[in-house]
Amino acid sequence: MNKERDIHHPDRLMQPDRHAQYDAVVFDVDSTLVTIEGLDWLATKKGNEHEVVELTKKSMEGRMDFHEAMVKKMQLLAPTLEDFIRLGNVYCDHIVPGAADVIAKLRDLGKEVWIMSGNFQPAVDILADKLGIAPDKILCNQVFFDGQGNYAGFDTENPLARNGGKAEKIRDVMEQKEKNIVFVGDSITDLDVKEHVGLFVGFGGVVQREIVKQHADYYISELNLMPLLAIVNNDNVQIPAKVPPGRKQSIFDTHSSWKSMPGFHR
Ligand SMILES: [Mg+2]
Repeated sequence: MNKERDIHHPDRLMQPDRHAQYDAVVFDVDSTLVTIEGLDWLATKKGNEHEVVELTKKSMEGRMDFHEAMVKKMQLLAPTLEDFIRLGNVYCDHIVPGAADVIAKLRDLGKEVWIMSGNFQPAVDILADKLGIAPDKILCNQVFFDGQGNYAGFDTENPLARNGGKAEKIRDVMEQKEKNIVFVGDSITDLDVKEHVGLFVGFGGVVQREIVKQHADYYISELNLMPLLAIVNNDNVQIPAKVPPGRKQSIFDTHSSWKSMPGFHR
């Protein structure tokens, strides 16, 4: 079985301070910290929902190149500065249950909390501010506007605009501590980082993607991010050493009462 899944593995049991094992947690945004896909939401406001949603779905499932899908979506949407500010506020109204509490608790435990998204700065900044994530812990793409706030393109050279970009950012920005990072995300573009971080947690609370579920070290199926606290702070996790063949492991399979975990209460 995958050693990373087995917290009872001798290598882990020999570590004297497992609280310090991971010192940074990086979150994807769309369908991970929030219950919506931002560009899909914009599309509903602009009347081209069907085309944009299909492009998102294909790229998130790995059936279409992410960069190609992003270019097409932005051409269709031509989002204005006002659109992105509205999207940022809508993000704040659609934060995944448990996200704000788990982020606050991770910071209390001394963990760095980062956001990494292929989405765009005006909207992501507003969400990060709401969640108390510092500007220097935000990694996302840039969109350009003319003097009237009309769409004028986006940074197509940003690694976050292409497949493999999140892994590249992890290597470039957080290189010195790659293996101390926990990454949390829902899609195949997030899964790219798996070999570059200490632990990859798949989040299926909004959208379940089978390929992510298959390859994640842990997978959260419920619409709540609070189980992440038990995974990061893994002294409290009681995962069976053996998972029956064919059965995927969900933190909720063995932890129905995370609210009563030691160290959880704020
Ligand atoms: Mg996502």
